[in-house]
Amino acid sequence: MYRLNKINSIDSEVAAAIEQEVNRQRNNIELIASENFVSEAVLDAMGTPLTNKYAEGYPDKRYYGGCQYVDIVEKLAIERAKKLFGAEHANVQPHSGASANLAVFFAVLRPGDTVMGMDLSCGGHLSHGMSKNISGSYFNVVSYGVRRDDNTIDYDDLREKALKYRPKLIVAGASAYSRTIDFKKFSEIAKECGAYLMADIAHIAGLIVAGLHPSPVGYADFVTTTTHKTMRGPRGGMILCKEEFAKIIDSAIFPGTQGGPLMHIIAAKAVSFKEAMSDEFKQYQQNVVLNSKALEKAMIRNGFELVTGGTDNHLILVNLTNHNITGKKAQNLLDEVNITCNKNGIPYDTQKPTLTSGIRLGTPAVTTRGMTTDDMNEIADIISMTLTDFDFNKEEALHRVKKLVEKYPLYR
Ligand SMILES: *Cc1c(COP(=O)(O)O)cnc(C)c1O
Repeated sequence: MYRLNKINSIDSEVAAAIEQEVNRQRNNIELIASENFVSEAVLDAMGTPLTNKYAEGYPDKRYYGGCQYVDIVEKLAIERAKKLFGAEHANVQPHSGASANLAVFFAVLRPGDTVMGMDLSCGGHLSHGMSKNISGSYFNVVSYGVRRDDNTIDYDDLREKALKYRPKLIVAGASAYSRTIDFKKFSEIAKECGAYLMADIAHIAGLIVAGLHPSPVGYADFVTTTTHKTMRGPRGGMILCKEEFAKIIDSAIFPGTQGGPLMHIIAAKAVSFKEAMSDEFKQYQQNVVLNSKALEKAMIRNGFELVTGGTDNHLILVNLTNHNITGKKAQNLLDEVNITCNKNGIPYDTQKPTLTSGIRLGTPAVTTRGMTTDDMNEIADIISMTLTDFDFNKEEALHRVKKLVEKYPLYR
């Protein structure tokens, strides 16, 4: 059992569920593009008594006593974040990516102000203006999308709308977009219409650290990210900005939208940032992209159509229309052979969001396990046999997944 003795002695039900989840992670091929496996050092940092500490405020400016040691931890996290991204200011307290985005909105917008974000159906994120999210219900949202012909960001449409609607904030960034984002172009458009620019790099932060995707730092007024996707840190968020916005950002997180920071998570962020400074991390990110390219080629070889035709980053979006299967059905069939992915709408999808015409496949997690481009070929073949003749191929698919995961042990 995975280090569960103490939990088990108090609460065997929760311990049993944790054990099952750890085994699921061990036995499945994890292709959810937003997931990863943290190191044991990061895991250990999360499970420390730092969770006990109230530290409202910021290092050297706390509202509670006894903060001298958590101050060391938060300062390390801040300094490492600034160094990794070349940023003037970092706030490492956001509990999640959505909290980081909300804080930037709260810092520069008032209810009713106009914001532009990428349409959810074109690959944007909920927190960029979806109607049921606070971003879409308290603010006036004008969405931009992707071009119908090649499904890449339509910068002409973006510029036209920006000049027409004069948003106060433009959001650049996506959750299901497999191509490089041109932050320079975004910044030119934002300048031209007098808007702030926020770049949300939740998915691609690790690639940016490794120099495999252009950085928005220097172009965007605010950069938000998660720390748990390609960054391979604990579940959480972060905001980077220019020094001139440091005060409004810090106060938008606390007391604006959050209370006490999660100091155990901030410790884990600091540890993961140290890991991200290593050559191994750079090599890892290079392998993520190599594997993504290999998966792209192998899926195409198997007759699948990819949105935008392929990928520049860590993910591909598969258009299943020519396979006559919905994203939901594909996700369920793959689940049955222990391959985990998520259904995902494709641009201009004709299926409902609960069904969709696509699946999103990412390589950050499998690459952390050590899988190589040869393994991506094998994964694409297993996906293909599963989706083309499930009943006939199920047993063989399960067997081949088992062989693959046994080659790369996880959390021994
Ligand atoms: C994942 C993601 C988020 C949200 O992160 P949470 O930690 O789940 O709140 C925000 N923006 C983008 C672009 C994302 O992909």
